Amino acid sequence: TKYVYSFSEGTKEMKSLLGGKGANLAEMSIIGLPVPPGFTITTQACTDYYKQNKELWSDLLDEIKSKLAELEQTMGKKLGDATNPLLVSVRSGAVFSMPGMMDTILNLGLNDESVEGIAKAMNNPRLAYDSYRRFIQMFADVAMDVPKYKFEAILERTKEQKGYHYDTELTAEDLKGIVAEFKTVYKLEIGKDFPSDPFEQLLMAVRAVFNSWNNPRAITYRRLNDIPHDLGTAVNVQSMVFGNTGDKSGTGVAFTRNPSTGENKLFGEYLINAQGEDVVAGIRTPQSIDTLKDDMPAVYDEFIRITQLLENHYKDMQDIEFTVEDEKLYILQTRNGKRTSQAAINVAVDMVEEGRISKEEAVLRIEPERVNELLHPKFEDKALKAAHLLAKGLPASPGAAAGKVYFNAEDCVAASSKGEKTLLVRLETSPEDIEGMVAAEGILTARGGMTSHAAVVARGMGKCCVAGCGTLRIDERAGFFKVGDLTVKEGDYISLDGSTGSVYLGAVDRVEPKLSGKFETLMTWVDGMRKLKVRTNADTPKDARIAVDFGAEGIGLCRTEHMFFEAERIPAVREMIIAQSLEARMTALAKLLPMQREDFMGIFRAMGERSVTIRLLDPPLHEFLPREEKDIIELARTMSIPVDDLKARVDDLQEFNPMLGHRGCRLAVTYPEIYAMQAQAIIEGAIAVKKEGIDVKPEIMIPLIGSVKELAYVKSIVTEVADDIIAKSDVKLNYLVGTMIEIPRAAITADEIAKEAQFFSFGTNDLTQMGFGFSRDDANKFLGEYEEKGILEKDPFQVLDQAGIGKLVKMGCELGRSTNPDIHLGICGEHGGEPSSVEFCHRIGLDYVSCSPFRVPVARIAAAHAAL
Ligand code: PEP
Ligand code: MG
Repeated sequence: TKYVYSFSEGTKEMKSLLGGKGANLAEMSIIGLPVPPGFTITTQACTDYYKQNKELWSDLLDEIKSKLAELEQTMGKKLGDATNPLLVSVRSGAVFSMPGMMDTILNLGLNDESVEGIAKAMNNPRLAYDSYRRFIQMFADVAMDVPKYKFEAILERTKEQKGYHYDTELTAEDLKGIVAEFKTVYKLEIGKDFPSDPFEQLLMAVRAVFNSWNNPRAITYRRLNDIPHDLGTAVNVQSMVFGNTGDKSGTGVAFTRNPSTGENKLFGEYLINAQGEDVVAGIRTPQSIDTLKDDMPAVYDEFIRITQLLENHYKDMQDIEFTVEDEKLYILQTRNGKRTSQAAINVAVDMVEEGRISKEEAVLRIEPERVNELLHPKFEDKALKAAHLLAKGLPASPGAAAGKVYFNAEDCVAASSKGEKTLLVRLETSPEDIEGMVAAEGILTARGGMTSHAAVVARGMGKCCVAGCGTLRIDERAGFFKVGDLTVKEGDYISLDGSTGSVYLGAVDRVEPKLSGKFETLMTWVDGMRKLKVRTNADTPKDARIAVDFGAEGIGLCRTEHMFFEAERIPAVREMIIAQSLEARMTALAKLLPMQREDFMGIFRAMGERSVTIRLLDPPLHEFLPREEKDIIELARTMSIPVDDLKARVDDLQEFNPMLGHRGCRLAVTYPEIYAMQAQAIIEGAIAVKKEGIDVKPEIMIPLIGSVKELAYVKSIVTEVADDIIAKSDVKLNYLVGTMIEIPRAAITADEIAKEAQFFSFGTNDLTQMGFGFSRDDANKFLGEYEEKGILEKDPFQVLDQAGIGKLVKMGCELGRSTNPDIHLGICGEHGGEPSSVEFCHRIGLDYVSCSPFRVPVARIAAAHAAL
């Protein structure tokens, strides 16, 4: 096996072996861009390193040595040389870019001799010692986990003593002193001298990169983003160029288009006389890329030419890192830029219109899950005008967020897990903050620019972020920040507008968003590509209308019990449940009938001619009864029955296993009059709305069927009532009767059940519950351990278990179609809006998926992806 490749030996297609960074460095070298030479140690070397118990083996060492020798020859310099030394950067580079892993060590190869070599060769002692102190700090921080602040404190103290403002004011002598102090800190922290042998430095850095693949932050990131844990990371070793030689040097990051909005205009920042980390770390505030035109016109023109070339070459928006050394431009990295979902859509549609990519390609570039972000609320105009503007930072990632302030990731995670809305407020974020960023509604930082860690990661997650809010004086340890003389303490509410950079006091009200024309264009393409229909789960006219706006083509599940819970109905519902005789129950049901009819009419009107599947009552009856002693007494009084009678009835209805108890169609077997009332309300409502001129399409769905006889019996209750009403009316109304398939026995006997059903809707929530034998309400107590121990990869209540529960669904479809070729098939469990499950539904040939209103666009895109 070959483990080490020169940049000149690879291509962009070799991403899985060379990692994203390595493959793109190779590609750029090959197409003749000014990339400093170097080599890549493969991802395979990383996975083998883990197989060898985290030891580097001799063949690998030999290969690294020989590639290093080659590099030294190309550069005409030697690592560690006392006169003209080679310095290298060492960077990780996984197949998918991954914050949380070891990122970069610059200036590797410096020691007490080679630092003098650099000073002489570059004729710049200041540069030499500045590079050396950076190296020690980065090596200690990223490779050895020595906290950064231990070094920063020394830097700050020196600046203060000398009366400097900027790092750039430090002289060579100052930096020499700082280097000595840094080495002392290293020795104190690690218990060993800072390594002076450059090859040893290199190997330690390589191991650190490999080890960082499995640090907890990286593991968390992979888990959140579905990246397999066994890919490993590559290591890139690249000869250094210096952005810190003086005023004709600098370093920066640029995106070929605006990563927040997608606007087709170069977007970026740079710092004069600085090295790599300075830009993203946000220590000095960078300048906009536009001013490079004035600082160094020739470099600017060359840079523009290269950014356009790269975008054309990759046919996607690029995120490019560059360094200028004495007016010579070098490209250090390019990759497809992370972007907000709004930018993703705008860039994809623009690129189709520019003739660069096909519509299919554009649709495939939109991650279904992320479209969700576009659909989320913005601040309400009036509330915004009234809001107290606290401060203004950079609009780093759009969105509106309101929540309680927390100053570190752990507190954010803890508060969010209690159901609080939180905002993570930090001086600047770093990869350690990733879990806090996930938990928070939004992120606010005092330092850093549009390409700071906080900004890039937040955009990637589609999370609202305001960065570089310089007027904030944050005391993270004490848990407060000040703006002027106003203090905001931990737990206080503020609001962030990531589109304007504004920070407001208190929680500002939000409203539903409007979607852009480009989104509409993209969704039209999506609809032309997909085969699956997308319906929604909605119980109210309001939800139904939202879903129609999002493109729902019908209602796949209207849960009627939600109507029963409403305050003004609950007395009648309770009366119905407590009734001891048929007569008493009929009286109560008669009170409910007009209310249910109104509900259905509202929904029919909202849905127009689209199909509306209404499910008859499903939960166990005791869910509707009061539990607390005082509520029981109260209810007994209003119903004028003895408290003891009521208590006895409540006790009577208690079940050991309610989910497997008296619920679903079983209720109708004992109390047929309940379903009869609901069928009457549906059909009468449908007739009334049909008379208004809408060609309604009601579908009556019977839940929790386990056997065909059960269905035949319950169905007869429904059809008898329905047919009778229709016959007596003067309109022609078609309706369907079908069933949910949510009990394993129903899936297994679906061929028989299909003879009595016009449609099946797979209730994969219950099917998962009963198929796995995992209680829906209790499983989260142990499912976490299942995932951690690798027994289950995903929570099966969120992502359909295709191998097991999915097999039941597939079997149900095939058996159902075998006896009833016209049967209509859909899914209405939570999985109907989850992309990988939607893909599965497409593959097994369902007619539609049904999901909550906000997930409808997600499901439409997922369905298009499945069909492409
Ligand atoms: C299901 O079981 O998948 C379903 C949609 O019904 P409910 O969630 O109401 O039980
Ligand atoms: Mg169910």
